[in-house]
Amino acid sequence: MSTAKIPLLAQRPETLVEALAARGVVCSLREARQVLSRVISDGADDPTPKMSPRKALVTALREHADWSRPEVIERVPDGEGKSVRYLFRLRDGLLVESVRIGLLKPDCYTVCLSSQVGCAMACDFCATGRLGLTRNLTPEEILGTFLTVRDETPGRVTGAVFMGQGEPFHSFDAVIQSAYVLCNPAGGRIAQEAVTISTVGLVPQLRRYAREGHPFKLIVSLTSAVPERRAKLLPVAGRTDMPELVAALREYAAVAKGRLTLAWVLIRGVNDGEDEIAALRAELGDLPYQINLIDVNDARPDGYARVSEAELSAFIERLQTLKVPIVRRYSVGRDKHSACGMLAATRSAEVVET
Ligand code: SF4
Repeated sequence: MSTAKIPLLAQRPETLVEALAARGVVCSLREARQVLSRVISDGADDPTPKMSPRKALVTALREHADWSRPEVIERVPDGEGKSVRYLFRLRDGLLVESVRIGLLKPDCYTVCLSSQVGCAMACDFCATGRLGLTRNLTPEEILGTFLTVRDETPGRVTGAVFMGQGEPFHSFDAVIQSAYVLCNPAGGRIAQEAVTISTVGLVPQLRRYAREGHPFKLIVSLTSAVPERRAKLLPVAGRTDMPELVAALREYAAVAKGRLTLAWVLIRGVNDGEDEIAALRAELGDLPYQINLIDVNDARPDGYARVSEAELSAFIERLQTLKVPIVRRYSVGRDKHSACGMLAATRSAEVVET
């Protein structure tokens, strides 16, 4: 019989029934839904089902389950009032961040979630990449950070994006498990299409994701189509040959029915030239994709620079010759190191430009 505590925040009703059965506790699917609705959907600190509080089940939950969340140690709002960076301490003392981001729709928010402490991908423009990887977050830690941010939000949290610390596909199982709990009617109640997973494009995981047919939105950071440049900017992902990556993207595009989105972290004088357009044309061919342009956020004074508005317009004009949809994405919280590529588990007093 299993003796480990059941992490309630990582459960869906079916898995909770199974986990309790493995501990000799009988729980119906209806009861499991009620327990999880209390703890996850309502964010209650008590798993007692409202409708049918069966004493034996409540006692068993207290004995066999855990629904604690990581501790918040800091909340850092940006100067524009568009985001709040949360710093969490995990049970083993490690620090990790989430960011609440206001959406264009009034009173609607999304939560940017970390999947790992640090990251092993070493992307050249990213502060998290410079930390290296310490460990993966567990699904219950991911959910715990989400719920804390959600419960403190003054409006509705309508989405979640895996774009914080870590490469989500490097912790594939935990991220997918979390995403399904986020969407469960007895869980986070987020629409499946409002959960986004952002990856540098690890090919075996891309293929697995396509094969398993998960419904979440995927964004693959391409950032350069010139192989040597991609290998410098995204050292781990860039080791894969471009044809192999494109074959995996094609497999995903086939199942995603036109939902292939490629992110492009735009860096002045690096990946904003004509050679990238030629490489995109040559390497990606007729692959159906959309490009999301994101300004680089490099905190180092001698780091990568953003393009000017004129340079951006010139690059967009060149991209338009490829006849693919182009979307400009804005990141918020740059002044408080909350923006894409800036998360390094710093406390606000430690936020310095290094
Ligand atoms: S950009 Fe993403 S994948 Fe790359 S180092 Fe940063 S956190 Fe990791």
